[in-house]
Amino acid sequence: MKYYSLNKNASKVSFKEAVIQGLAPDKGLYFPENIIPLDGDFFKNIENLSNETIALETIKQFVGDAIPETVLKQIIAETLCFDFPLVEVEKNIYSLELFHGPTMAFKDVGARFMARCLAYFNKDKADSKNTVLVATSGDTGGAVASGFLGVAGVDVVILYPSGKVSDIQERQLTTLGQNITALEVDGVFDDCQDMVKKAFLDEDLHHKNLTSANSINIARWLPQMFYFFFAYKALKKYNLPITVSCPSGNFGNICAGIMAKRLGLPIAHFVASTNVNDTVPRFLEDGNYDPKPSKATISNAMDVGNPSNFIRIQELYHNDLGEFEKDFSSFTFSDDATTAAMKAIYKTNGYIAEPHGAVGYLGLKKQLKTVDENIGIFLETAHPIKFLDIVEPILGVTLAVPQQIESVLGKEKKSLKIGSYAELKDFLR
Ligand SMILES: *Cc1c(COP(=O)(O)O)cnc(C)c1O
Repeated sequence: MKYYSLNKNASKVSFKEAVIQGLAPDKGLYFPENIIPLDGDFFKNIENLSNETIALETIKQFVGDAIPETVLKQIIAETLCFDFPLVEVEKNIYSLELFHGPTMAFKDVGARFMARCLAYFNKDKADSKNTVLVATSGDTGGAVASGFLGVAGVDVVILYPSGKVSDIQERQLTTLGQNITALEVDGVFDDCQDMVKKAFLDEDLHHKNLTSANSINIARWLPQMFYFFFAYKALKKYNLPITVSCPSGNFGNICAGIMAKRLGLPIAHFVASTNVNDTVPRFLEDGNYDPKPSKATISNAMDVGNPSNFIRIQELYHNDLGEFEKDFSSFTFSDDATTAAMKAIYKTNGYIAEPHGAVGYLGLKKQLKTVDENIGIFLETAHPIKFLDIVEPILGVTLAVPQQIESVLGKEKKSLKIGSYAELKDFLR
């Protein structure tokens, strides 16, 4: 399988090269040259297949011969070391809980898969390491730190804005040690992101083999297809059309869901639910893609003004509004609506949704009003404890601390403070 750059001004590369480079030399995102649907028997038998077998069948064609099947199986087994429960919160409305991994956000899946692919590609290079450089506003950093911890041949450097991430998020970044270094930047998220971009373009740092670990990297993006198949496996018996709503920020997760459909997965409709950062809902109204600076909300992992993966979705729909209309909608919701939904879900069903999941729920309900009986799934992308400062006061509850979080709370924070690009460069050299 080859990958081409969506800027169409770079050579095609293998899975291995695409993973190592992250972004193509022309700054385009990589996209698979072919998407070959799985055969009908796979879907006929899916309820008898293990999650690991399903994952292998779905990702195989995208990896090609870059990783031998025995190794790929091992990578999948280590990636899927936790459950993906579907919880029925009201009749025919399910929460697909993607937060049972080590850092309690769905990003664990992509981060664990990508880390192990890189480790395999590095296994014979005793003295040349890859450096994963990533800027985070919260969840990405924790998932990347945990996913890459102890992975041979890879150093991880995470930049985060000082004082702008939650206590739990900061501890997930700063307490692991080993091959993980946290740089605490005197600035905001955009400053961290700017420094990372500068480093990627800096000739003096070329020998460091810098790689990104955001969802622009195909090895972080594609494994997110897996859990759409797991959800179908569980709900197939009801024999109803399925609508899925993804709370969306950079649109990597929902883009993986659409890829799953292109592999033949019977999902009737996708809803990309956003907070007030509504670039995509506005695009669907008039076909004009007009990104705006991001606005801060209570669902802050989705505070994205220019979603990096939307270009992949445009490719899948040939950028044609008529094609989008068939199975893709996108709706925007305010913080007030999100808060009201969290309260209503809790009061009526006793289910605690955090703000991102609640935005997903709202989009799902809105879409389902327009169709006959469907099964609806919203993705619950993080555990409520990760947003406890928001969830506890809104719902008037005290959340129990899960073991994954408990284990980082007692550990000592270790970070290096930096204030400028020169300091980052010095550190990397
Ligand atoms: C990253 C994140 C999202 C957004 O996912 P995208 O793939 O960027 O659309 C949603 N919810 C949570 C909790 C996240 O951490």
